[in-house]
Amino acid sequence: MSTLFDLHSHSTASDGLLSPAHVATRAGERGVSHWALTDHDTLAGLDVARAAAEAAGVRFIHGVEISIVWEDVPIHIVGLGFDVTHPGLRAGLDGLRGGRLARARRMSDAFAAIGIPDVLEGALNYTETPEQISRAHFARYLVELGLFKDKGEVFEHYLTPGKPGYVQHRWASLDEAVGWIRAADGVAVVAHPGRYRMSGGQTQRFFAEFKDLGGAAIEVSCGSHTPDHVRHFAQQARRFGFYASQGSDFHGIETGRPDLGAFASLPEDLKPVWRLLGY
Ligand code: AMP
Ligand code: MN
Ligand code: MN
Ligand code: MN
Repeated sequence: MSTLFDLHSHSTASDGLLSPAHVATRAGERGVSHWALTDHDTLAGLDVARAAAEAAGVRFIHGVEISIVWEDVPIHIVGLGFDVTHPGLRAGLDGLRGGRLARARRMSDAFAAIGIPDVLEGALNYTETPEQISRAHFARYLVELGLFKDKGEVFEHYLTPGKPGYVQHRWASLDEAVGWIRAADGVAVVAHPGRYRMSGGQTQRFFAEFKDLGGAAIEVSCGSHTPDHVRHFAQQARRFGFYASQGSDFHGIETGRPDLGAFASLPEDLKPVWRLLGY
């Protein structure tokens, strides 16, 4: 049987559109043989996802995507293959989620100030877990209001640094995120490195610091990487001795967004991150 690892995806446990069980089923249908659910700052979907994956004949790997800020740049660190019961990891993630609703209120106030009222109330209709409220839910609501044609436009005009609905937030530090994952015997991975607004030199410093802290891998291939990104980050993986990860960053079946299993394959000379996960 051929293998296909998809090590980055989301469900309704954070800002995805499908339930954890539904993502598991779809992973199987899409030919994914080994799958990690990596919801933002939560482990809530993992038990259901594991059971559904096993029922669908898909090998399941515990995952999470942790929000951090490093040198004022919002960055995401994926954790894979950790012990889900680890108290330090769980406490760290609980703390992170605790700040989401407060940030969302400030975002909503910022929208009210520019004449768009009650955005938090609207956004909350898109999640069953208010503590998981995310910019993605704000974007879905603003698209529904008819102000924009898609979420990308909302992010571009309102939800990114410097734009009126963006609120700076204190997420975890790099040190904390990598520390929680490693304490729980997991593997720390830099998510979608092609998406950060950093200069080449800053990225080098970031990778060096991540490596010093015990970070093991970077996503070389993912749903948001162009062929140029794949080549560039493959080179960075070689240079820093990182293992290479891959994943769709699936959030739901949406036009123009990556489906499960849909990303370029890794250059053959790289060490795949699943070597660290027992595969
Ligand atoms: P948050 O964790 O609340 O800061 O929200 C970040 C989430 O917003 C990401 O995980 C993506 O799902 C989504 N997102 C970020 N940028 C974009 C974009 N340009 N278009 C669509 N969704 C985005
Ligand atoms: Mn997301
Ligand atoms: Mn991300
Ligand atoms: Mn993601």
